[in-house]
Amino acid sequence: MRHITRIGLVLLLCAAVLVTLAGCGTKTKSTQSAPDKLKVFATVYPVYDFARQVGGDKIEVAMLMPPGAEPHDWEPTAQDIVKIKSAKLVLYHGAGLEPVDKLLSKDVLATVKAVEVSKGIPLLAGEEDEDEDEASHQQHDKDKQTDQHKHESETDPHVWLDPVYAQQEVKAIAEALSEVDPANKDYYQKNAERFIQELVKLDSDYQTTLSKAGRRDIITTHIAFGYLAKRYNLEQIGIMGLAPDSEPTADKMAKVVDFCRTHQVKYIFFETLVSPKLADTIAKETGAGLLVLNPVENLTAEEMKQGKDYLSVMRENLANLEKALQK
Ligand SMILES: [Zn+2]
Repeated sequence: MRHITRIGLVLLLCAAVLVTLAGCGTKTKSTQSAPDKLKVFATVYPVYDFARQVGGDKIEVAMLMPPGAEPHDWEPTAQDIVKIKSAKLVLYHGAGLEPVDKLLSKDVLATVKAVEVSKGIPLLAGEEDEDEDEASHQQHDKDKQTDQHKHESETDPHVWLDPVYAQQEVKAIAEALSEVDPANKDYYQKNAERFIQELVKLDSDYQTTLSKAGRRDIITTHIAFGYLAKRYNLEQIGIMGLAPDSEPTADKMAKVVDFCRTHQVKYIFFETLVSPKLADTIAKETGAGLLVLNPVENLTAEEMKQGKDYLSVMRENLANLEKALQK
């Protein structure tokens, strides 16, 4: 046995030498043929999770935003800016979610490719406030000139919460990976197709469950569920704005309380990364219960350890929606 192993080893070494020699002879082969994984950065959690699904063991993907951070408050650190150059590809969500100006500057990126995964998806307008009439659109244009928080007013960035648009984002990630690493194109495409099938199933389960719901109004803390509500014909009433740090006025609070009372809303939704104080206040005022509706903007380190991901959290969301929307 020993003998055979030794012979095997010698043969392997010979083969390795031959390959090396052959490698030297071919001028066209670049040094890239090393078996190293493709290094990728993703800014926020949904992009990170989708990239993991598509990239599998061919990529090494890291999330720039720390676990548990809220993307609306997040900004890339000086260290993030420095380490970007060590990657081949940076995937960011876009649609106004994360502040990427610094990351995308030419000196920072140099030869790193940056891809906006939400590109091409038709975006919903930003904050509508309580009035959904046309007047508020004119107000938006006015806000644009003065508002320092661009992402709060121009477009609604929460595209990934619609399982149909999520499929488009997965496709964009597969394309980006294939472009940077064409040798593994088939692998990325296959993984993307497999994951898209999961999203198709998720969408169909949402359709089936929510079509039977006895209610259509969801009371959320920050209005992250616009795309989801539109897809499944729900009405979202937000306590805060598009970003969770926008405090509601007393008038807004009173209106939400009023709405909950007249519609006998059973549950108020809160989020894991945002203080439940406001949701709790409204629940107490109206006698409603509290349930989690997670915008999957990020997961806590604990949730990641438990093996939670986009699909599992979206299924938890569906279970809670089903519970809250019973007649
Ligand atoms: Zn958000």
